[in-house]
Amino acid sequence: MLQDIKSLTREELETQFAAWKQPKYRVAQLLEWLYVHRVTSWDAMMNLPKPLREKLGKDFLLQTLELVRKQGAPVLRSPAMRDGGGRDTTQKFLWRLHDHLLIESVLIPANPALYGDASDRHTLCVSTQVGCAYGCKFCASGLDGWKRNLTPDEIVEQVLAVERWNASSSSSSSSNPTEEPITKKRTTTRTNERLIDNLVIMGMGEPLANYDNLLKALRILNAPWGGGIGARKITISTSGLAPQIRKLADEPLQFRLAISLHGATDAVRNKIMPVNRKYPLKELVAACEEYQGQKGRMLTFEYILIAGVNDSIEQAKPLGALARRLFAKVNLIPYNRVEGLPWERPDEETQDKFLAALEKQKVIVTLRREKGHDIDAACGQLRLKTEKELNR
Ligand code: SAH
Ligand code: SF4
Repeated sequence: MLQDIKSLTREELETQFAAWKQPKYRVAQLLEWLYVHRVTSWDAMMNLPKPLREKLGKDFLLQTLELVRKQGAPVLRSPAMRDGGGRDTTQKFLWRLHDHLLIESVLIPANPALYGDASDRHTLCVSTQVGCAYGCKFCASGLDGWKRNLTPDEIVEQVLAVERWNASSSSSSSSNPTEEPITKKRTTTRTNERLIDNLVIMGMGEPLANYDNLLKALRILNAPWGGGIGARKITISTSGLAPQIRKLADEPLQFRLAISLHGATDAVRNKIMPVNRKYPLKELVAACEEYQGQKGRMLTFEYILIAGVNDSIEQAKPLGALARRLFAKVNLIPYNRVEGLPWERPDEETQDKFLAALEKQKVIVTLRREKGHDIDAACGQLRLKTEKELNR
């Protein structure tokens, strides 16, 4: 099967163009069409000679994601930002791939309290697989199992497609507030303006189980000729694949790492995350230490608070100890209900007590209280809902 052109790095394109006896500057022109103008057809690449466009079209695909559904919801940011923090709009995109499978991306207004640094731009949460094989008991993404890995271009294209959507809503007016462009209206339409400067690899799928495709996509999204997103502004989230964490520690790029911990003891993790039986905490912590040793303080623990499962004050103690040992920041996330699953989020009082117990241990911790229900914010939920509706 043909490869999509956006799965190739600059070096690979240069090799290909050299083999075609094309001058090197043609590669620069092609890259500008792909990543600055984000065009979706070969014919739009006007300064490339027609025979070259035809050759490209014969040997490579130039695919886009089809927008099936979009949901927008006002979101309350973290408690610290509630007063005066204002309301912002999170947008959730459901995409159809060329083989008709569905994936999701979520566009989140800048929130300096979360990953990376303060920003006036936006964070995009991207998917790396269709479905997930890891079957965490609370998660919608794994409910139907794993379908396939995304290719590098399908990961890259999530960023480009959202920026294309933003550019097109900038140039057309709409009465629906959720259709308003994210960037301010401009007097001239500049479709190449960049919207996204933070990435979180926290959509559907286990990123480190699709290691090679993910890393290739991230190299393209990080490159100055590609997405131009700084490595320190890219956070990869994993349920705890210890060997791949070690492998990532050896990569030259300084990605941030988020561990979906959700339990600070093997007893709790075994109950909700099957991956813990393969890589128990001891092994996971050792891999995190290696990452920390190589990269400096780049670790975050994600901790979903699930009522009666991991939200007791006793649990805050081992969690605090782990966070301090690894210099990790803790993100507490009240569980988002998933239709058909029995889990619930604890009440706000319990959430606050858990937060306070960690703060008392001098752990850097945030509690992310978003109104996620409004847009089915947790990964995999919009896809699940759409597939159910389609089956009806
Ligand atoms: N597979 C990776 C990345 C995708 S999941 C991982 O597990 O880290 C992204 C995050 O969403 C994880 O922290 C996951 O545990 C969390 N999550 C999944 N279902 C959720 C739900 N219903 N409510 C809140 N967070 C959820
Ligand atoms: Fe997969 Fe992550 Fe969901 Fe677990 S939480 S099933 S690893 S997507």
